[in-house]
Amino acid sequence: MGSNTSELTAATTLAVSGRSRDPHVVNPPVYRASTHLYADCAALREGPRTNEDGRFFYGRRGSPTQWALSDALTALEPGAHGTVLYPSGVAAIAGSLMAVCRPGDVLLVTDNAYDPSRSMAKGLFKRLGVEARFFDPLDLAAYDGLFCERTRAVWLENPGSLSMEVCDIPALTRIAREKGAVSLIDNTWATALGFPALERGCDISVQALTKHVGGHSDLMMGSASAGERWYRKLRQTAQELGQVVSPDDAALALRGLRTMQLRLEKSTASALAIAEWLSNRSEVAHVLCPILPGAPGHDLWRRDFTGGCGLFSFVLKDRDDAARCRLIDALDLFGIGYSWGGFESLALPIDIAPIRDRMAWPRPEWQAGEDCAIRLSIGLEDPHDLIADLTQALAAMDHA
Ligand SMILES: *Cc1c(COP(=O)(O)O)cnc(C)c1O
Repeated sequence: MGSNTSELTAATTLAVSGRSRDPHVVNPPVYRASTHLYADCAALREGPRTNEDGRFFYGRRGSPTQWALSDALTALEPGAHGTVLYPSGVAAIAGSLMAVCRPGDVLLVTDNAYDPSRSMAKGLFKRLGVEARFFDPLDLAAYDGLFCERTRAVWLENPGSLSMEVCDIPALTRIAREKGAVSLIDNTWATALGFPALERGCDISVQALTKHVGGHSDLMMGSASAGERWYRKLRQTAQELGQVVSPDDAALALRGLRTMQLRLEKSTASALAIAEWLSNRSEVAHVLCPILPGAPGHDLWRRDFTGGCGLFSFVLKDRDDAARCRLIDALDLFGIGYSWGGFESLALPIDIAPIRDRMAWPRPEWQAGEDCAIRLSIGLEDPHDLIADLTQALAAMDHA
């Protein structure tokens, strides 16, 4: 599109960005091509001199299909200069950290990060000579004290995976900037629609497009968006690593993006209704859902976020794993699976204590120590049907 999309609202941006350059069709064609052809040897030799998106070179550097998706994601992220695509969310996490960290660096990692991010910091990045130090994102003083001369970067996630705490990203990134460290965030939960990460102080915003952007549980992809300086480093590193996404998947992701705001609004409203309902059930000890008034993190969520999504957790009262499994197995409308952000609802038993180094779990402010938790991803079904399903499954839980 020739128009400047930076002034448009998100809803309009989602409709007009990443469109075909051919004025006769709406969507960019799927260029399924490894080989790009040149008119003559002079054009061939010119190719490597201009390593820019938007110029055919070779399949690994993308085609109009992938560039359209990158452009649409960039247009949606205030402050972004560009977006690099990766074959999965985990590949985006690895690629963005590799663009930033060097041997000898210290990487601070939020203790409630997505488990594969934690494992990567303790495994791959340790082998690369990067020292990971985990921090409690709710303890600003301890976090501040962790920085040293070698601290290169901070890895954030908000809300925290599984336990859903909301942290003060503007404060955490301000401290990082003062110490000369780069802030990266896993922004999969909110997307740029719900949390404009670069505007809130982050330098690089990473997403698993597998979740909300794909939205239909049929593709794997990741992205990293950044301002000009870090975008160039991200892109160079991705090219050195040979990261590329298939044009078919890019077209699917772009198709998912068109309806992302509608899907998020619907699943957020349903999740709020279900979270509210669960908070009044005697079988439930705690609802961990930042969009729910009164729930942990709600005030910061209201201050910093512009939207939510259908993903939240709850903790059972006085029930064990066998009861939890009876509940989940009795659900008809909820699938049992690791992913989320699709059109269909999912339930997952989660065990948080083994994947925390710094943050106490169960939370110290809870008098009773329940920790038997379930994560729900609310999809596009009618929330009344989902509540009816949860009602019968809660009854089944106690009828062993
Ligand atoms: C699923 C997920 C990822 C990883 O995405 P994949 O595409 O599955 O590799 C990263 N972060 C969060 C918070 C996720 O839930």
